[in-house]
Amino acid sequence: MVIGGLQKFSLLDYPEHLSAIIFTQGCNFRCQYCYNPMLVRPIKPSKFNHISSKEEKTKGHSLIEENDLFVFLKKRLGKLDAVVITGGEPTLHKDLPIFIKKIKKLGFKVKLDTNGTNPKMIKKLIKEKLLDYIAMDLKADFSKYDLITGVQSNLENIKKSIKIIIESGLDYEFRTTVVPKLVELSDIKAMGKTLSGANKWYLQKFQSDKELVNDRFTGMAGCGAGEMEKMKQEALRHVKFCEIR
Ligand code: SF4
Repeated sequence: MVIGGLQKFSLLDYPEHLSAIIFTQGCNFRCQYCYNPMLVRPIKPSKFNHISSKEEKTKGHSLIEENDLFVFLKKRLGKLDAVVITGGEPTLHKDLPIFIKKIKKLGFKVKLDTNGTNPKMIKKLIKEKLLDYIAMDLKADFSKYDLITGVQSNLENIKKSIKIIIESGLDYEFRTTVVPKLVELSDIKAMGKTLSGANKWYLQKFQSDKELVNDRFTGMAGCGAGEMEKMKQEALRHVKFCEIR
């Protein structure tokens, strides 16, 4: 696994669990507001010879050795009960199932964060009972997807992932970052139809006080509280639970 970072402790990322967060390196999206540019942009060819040149181009190189990560996790047994695997985009990594199997063997619950572009991998992980919780981003109304993700998005794959997750029987959430001018009330209405009947949808406040993938978004003001509340009320017409965070 190509690991770009580790957060040793979080109370927030996996509902009701104490977790460690593993950041995988590399992403197939370039979301304008992404605040993990160091995980998203390809890293220059490295001297790490265990990674093929294709992997280097798309995913960069590990900043944390997998062995060191497992030494850390073994030391946290009894103190943490879960691991969150986020990115970048974890499902780009072919060795993700083997990696998660090793984590689960230690007894940790696993939450996966995904942008939903790889329904095949999501399906496989669910089938092999490797996940306990899935959080998937629904970036925008489909007509604006490419504007936000900065690439030509395969919308069919996104739709497939939504269906797989809703039908998985697992605990899950969808989440949308409310990007000013790109995600508006009318978009929430359209997105709500896509998520119709889903259990949980979080509307996330846009944060611009960090380095973002697109510098032009840095410092931009997010939506006001009143507008966010209207969006939440609209979302609640379509899904069972919606919160702003
Ligand atoms: S999918 Fe996630 S990690 Fe990838 S660019 Fe978008 S926000 Fe960043």
